[in-house]
Amino acid sequence: MKRKIIGLLLAAATAVLALAVQAPDSRAITASSQQGLRPPQSLRLYVFDCGILHNSDAARYRFKKEELATLEMSVACFLIAHPKGTLVWDTGTVPDNAWTPTGTPTTQHIVLPDGQQRDITIVKSLKGQLAELGYSPSDITYLVLSHYHYDHTANANEFAGATWLVRQVERDAMFAEKALGTTQPSTYSALRDSKTIILDTDEHDVFGDGTVIIKSAPGHTPGHQVLYLKLAKTGGVMLSGDLYHYPEERKLDRVPTFEFNEEQTRASRVMIETFLKKTGAQLWIQHDIIGNAKLKKSPNFYD
Ligand SMILES: [Zn+2]
Repeated sequence: MKRKIIGLLLAAATAVLALAVQAPDSRAITASSQQGLRPPQSLRLYVFDCGILHNSDAARYRFKKEELATLEMSVACFLIAHPKGTLVWDTGTVPDNAWTPTGTPTTQHIVLPDGQQRDITIVKSLKGQLAELGYSPSDITYLVLSHYHYDHTANANEFAGATWLVRQVERDAMFAEKALGTTQPSTYSALRDSKTIILDTDEHDVFGDGTVIIKSAPGHTPGHQVLYLKLAKTGGVMLSGDLYHYPEERKLDRVPTFEFNEEQTRASRVMIETFLKKTGAQLWIQHDIIGNAKLKKSPNFYD
């Protein structure tokens, strides 16, 4: 009997050791198993891998194929952990409940209401990446979507228990009787009954201390927004939403063909570029697959 207990203990110790050896970053273990849901002492930004979107149409973005380094797009989702609460920014392209992760990349096919079709390759679920940090969707305080396009809303329903921060024009468009061409209303339908704060100022300071600010940047959609984070060590970071998709849009001054309002997009870009210059913040273009590849991914984080 005694020998059996020792054997079990040994097995447990080996398992712990194996876990420690496998973890790519010792901070990851601290975050998931020891710290649990205790809020961090200062602001953290986690970057989740929400897939690779295979775009095949450069002209939609007013480019010739040879003007772009690549047509592929990253899909990024983000968790912002603040001492006073948590915020999820964008929720991916494929709903977690539509597939089962196996650890190897899988390609999903999406058909949009306007008949457009897209392939997207994914490896990890959003919920799985949250769970790795010790969070479940019910732990999230705020849900914020940069905008309503299908490739940003896939898991929105999972966060229906959070407080949704949205502009009235965007919400109205999302629940319009006829679904917009590039939306998947079934992925966000539960938000209709969510606790909602309608944003009606150009800037919304989420936690009241100037470190997490939603900025209105309309044009791509009527209520499109971007997110500014003031991180203690990293400095200022702006999450772009779809203010730009390809970095070449910024360099060559191109506006996609499918904007809700191109003039608004141009004005928003000028306003955000001025803000970036003033604050010295970096701009992270969410769909920029080359830029995204250089970012630390969760469970690592920026602080
Ligand atoms: Zn978009």
